[in-house]
Amino acid sequence: MGQLLTNLNSQQLSHWLTEASQAANKGKLPNYIPLLQQTPPNLLAVCILPINHQINAQGDIDKTFPLMSIIKPFLLFYLLSQLGKEFIFNKVGRDPSNYPFNSLEQLQIDQGFPRNPMINSGAITLASLLLGKDGKTRCQNLQKWLNKQANCNLFLDEFMLNSVQSLPNIRNQSILQELVKQNQINEPEITLDTYNHICCLSGTIIDLARLGLLLVNCPSSLSQENCLIVREIMTTCGLYEASDTFAKKVGFPTKSGVSGAILSLVPEEGAIACYSPALDAEGNSISSLFIIQKIAQFLAS
Ligand code: GLN
Repeated sequence: MGQLLTNLNSQQLSHWLTEASQAANKGKLPNYIPLLQQTPPNLLAVCILPINHQINAQGDIDKTFPLMSIIKPFLLFYLLSQLGKEFIFNKVGRDPSNYPFNSLEQLQIDQGFPRNPMINSGAITLASLLLGKDGKTRCQNLQKWLNKQANCNLFLDEFMLNSVQSLPNIRNQSILQELVKQNQINEPEITLDTYNHICCLSGTIIDLARLGLLLVNCPSSLSQENCLIVREIMTTCGLYEASDTFAKKVGFPTKSGVSGAILSLVPEEGAIACYSPALDAEGNSISSLFIIQKIAQFLAS
């Protein structure tokens, strides 16, 4: 790479933010979570957090948002550290999928063995491995560990959780039934409740960048190998069907969530967190992808 993250100046970043907000005009908000559908689509925030350097954050930096699917790599990281890779990869695969993130068909093709932990079937299966008496306690265990390791301040957004639970999510329910049928999980209600809770862990763009830095600058108390495994799966599977095209264009580990957040990791350099609610057809934030691609082009220049 030609340029470093630390060489990126605030003026340049601010210019891309302006361009990105125009790019979002054609985007859509998710219609299956009412509170996400009511979010102003023009919100936009970005945070660049290089290792051992000052934060560069711009836009709606005080706005909190739910991580949604961005929790998936961190759920994987936590469980790898608790249970080890042999155990985990007996439960889920690590191969990309060309189907949407909530596809039942993919799970059926794979005979109930979730293809990877970045799609719903894999994350729901992993959520069943968290310990605790109920979804709330299980979520708190993950939340506490992440906040401690990443020095961030994730919290459970109860309003978002109520909103998630206010409409039946038929796709997640059928994934759950298939997992039960194939003997992959045995406590369906508590598992889905745990999954919904962890998707509603929320924070600001700075919290998200701090969380990302955990996987870039892995503390010596945690396994470097686990960090590499998670980054690799983010690279190949993090943007669902768009993963392959994006990996060819950008190449660094990235994960998106249906709230409009995207986290990208620049190995050995730092984390880039973006948030903007308007989504493209695959469910990835249009403005966030725009900004990350601009930064990737800058780094390669
Ligand atoms: N809670 C969301 C769902 O299961 C998360 C999905 C996402 O962010 N892509 O549908």
